Amino acid sequence: MENKSQMREWLDDFGLSHPLVIGGPCSAETEEQVLKIAHELKDSDVTVLRAGIWKPRTRPGMFEGVGAIGLKWLQKAKEETGLLIATEVANKDHVKLAIEHDVDILWIGARSTVSPFIMQEIADALEGTDKIVLVKNPVNPDLALWLGGVERLYTANIKKLGLIHRGFSSYEKTKYRNNPEWQIAVEAQNKFPDLPMICDPSHITGKRDLIFDICQTALDLNFDGLMVESHWDPDNAWSDAAQQVTPTRLIQIMKDLKIRKESDHEEAYNTALNNLRTQIDIADQTILDTLGKRMLVAEEIGLLKKSKNVAVLQNKRWNEILGKMILEGKDRGLSEEFILKIFKAIHQESINHQEEVVNG
Ligand code: PEP
Ligand code: MN
Repeated sequence: MENKSQMREWLDDFGLSHPLVIGGPCSAETEEQVLKIAHELKDSDVTVLRAGIWKPRTRPGMFEGVGAIGLKWLQKAKEETGLLIATEVANKDHVKLAIEHDVDILWIGARSTVSPFIMQEIADALEGTDKIVLVKNPVNPDLALWLGGVERLYTANIKKLGLIHRGFSSYEKTKYRNNPEWQIAVEAQNKFPDLPMICDPSHITGKRDLIFDICQTALDLNFDGLMVESHWDPDNAWSDAAQQVTPTRLIQIMKDLKIRKESDHEEAYNTALNNLRTQIDIADQTILDTLGKRMLVAEEIGLLKKSKNVAVLQNKRWNEILGKMILEGKDRGLSEEFILKIFKAIHQESINHQEEVVNG
């Protein structure tokens, strides 16, 4: 992807205040709902109104969107408020209708990015147009698949491109609906610094209370924008009710976020430092989560040993673990001394947990 700098020109052309903020409901429900939300969001940091018209639902029988009629409501909202409009497209017919209705930004959903056939179909349908296209990460944590989707669009001469980070699904339940896996977004930014990166905290968290912190982390990682689902009556939304915030709340979130601007040398230094510190914080959090999980497994082993009346400390197994970790540590540039220290400490904590289970 040579000449990537073209990709972010659209963002600069907008002359919009940094960051770009996209707000609006998960789904367009009625004309009244779309217009009400648009009017509440105009004259704020939000410059683009989003609404899903065709909704990809995991299981059949749920609300699947109002269809093409919703594009008329979006158009009307644009006329009345001056907001740009954005919607999700998932096939060539959607693309055609969105273009006919003057949709400014088309985004590709996480369930479409996983499919090279769909990505190619969309890219072919867009060829020769001047549309801004944002590609959400695929549901699975696969950076190549994500960037592959962008490459298909770029090859079809779509040059106004961007990425939306909406988190990744995992079998394991966590506090998030979709795990952020920030390192994937950071790697995408490092590989393609000219591709604007927008965070979608709504689909990452699945819960409105967690949205602010995710927005702040995204801004600390130099993201270029935010896409936040917003509904005038979130609890009664027809889709994704738990994660939507009112327009008033979204406007307050934007006021409370710390937005760092790279205006001078000193600021550039601070921004870079902040970015790296945020990456350290994320890594530390992962270490803690993993240690917590390891201790839970150790406790289960304790219970098992108790039922068989087996001693907690098993030296042979422990020496095997240590030897393996020293070797693997070397591959990662970690000294033997460090590995010994850290794993001895982990092992001791595991023994303490097991003993508590066995004796307690
Ligand atoms: C959406 O933005 O409403 C949506 C369906 O998102 P995703 O593709 O990230 O699940
Ligand atoms: Mn949604």
